Amino acid sequence: MKLMRFYHVNYIHNYFQNTLGFYGLNHRRIGATVQISWFSSPPGDPRNAWYSPINNWYVGGDSGDGNLYFGRGSRIHGVNNLARAADVIYHEYTHAVIDHIRPLAYREESGAMHEGTADYFSCSILNDPIIGEWVVSNPQGFRNLDNRLRYPDDYVGQVHSDGRIYGGALWDLRKLLGQNIADRIIFEGMKRFPDAPAQIYFLTGLNAIIDADRRLHGFSNHEN
Ligand SMILES: [Zn+2]
Repeated sequence: MKLMRFYHVNYIHNYFQNTLGFYGLNHRRIGATVQISWFSSPPGDPRNAWYSPINNWYVGGDSGDGNLYFGRGSRIHGVNNLARAADVIYHEYTHAVIDHIRPLAYREESGAMHEGTADYFSCSILNDPIIGEWVVSNPQGFRNLDNRLRYPDDYVGQVHSDGRIYGGALWDLRKLLGQNIADRIIFEGMKRFPDAPAQIYFLTGLNAIIDADRRLHGFSNHEN
């Protein structure tokens, strides 16, 4: 299990570095603590995994240590060890990448963009729009980006739920343009987000991606 986590953290590190040219985490060692439980040190929910942000996700909130944490799972809740799931590892690592590019406020639409983008890169790298199916032993998983959710009709004000709207739009873009182009313009688009910790919106994100596409490809992927 230790080797598997090591492999997946390195795999996604190399993906962001070698494929997308992201060196922002190169000189920073990201720690990964596994087997989190109510009684571990530090304690936490064994059914969850999280990234501890170095930048304030909430305006005025505390900064964390920049490391990744993975719950050990909970048999009575039907949750498997989160450190063994590539999609969960990739999701949490992408939060770290986003946090080092633009520390988006972790609430409302910008929080949902954090979640949706973390889901997107995990799903794109694995070529699978579902997050968490192994963790919960259920083909529906936690979330599915191949969805028909729409903004604002399906917006509920919860970052993981609303992340499916934003991540679903990114997944649609991938279906249209293919993985290579979609990953690149979505990644480059993040660099065009306004400086955080400003609250930003889905529309800001999608416009930044279109702008990245125009700069990289001269609008060749843009019909009107
Ligand atoms: Zn997340």
